[in-house]
Amino acid sequence: MPRGTVRIDEERCKGCGLCIAACPQQVLGFSGELNHSGYNVVHMERPSACVGCAFCAMTCPDIAIEVYRQKVPAQS
Ligand code: SF4
Ligand code: SF4
Repeated sequence: MPRGTVRIDEERCKGCGLCIAACPQQVLGFSGELNHSGYNVVHMERPSACVGCAFCAMTCPDIAIEVYRQKVPAQS
């Protein structure tokens, strides 16, 4: 299973929650932190579960998410 991580631009995030619903691994959740516009922004609640699929980034209407993928050595 590939590994990934995401970086969320908190000032772009408007707290719509679409990325939370789109993530098949339940990685994302509301952080409880408000950005300068007063939106409850998203963060990684379960970072180790991210597989780098980028569904969250594709779903975000505000282009607030960047996905980084890590290659994992094949299991022997
Ligand atoms: S989809 Fe984008 S704007 Fe909406 S909560 Fe997620 S990161 Fe924020
Ligand atoms: S890249 Fe995939 S697994 Fe990782 S947070 Fe986004 S939707 Fe979830």
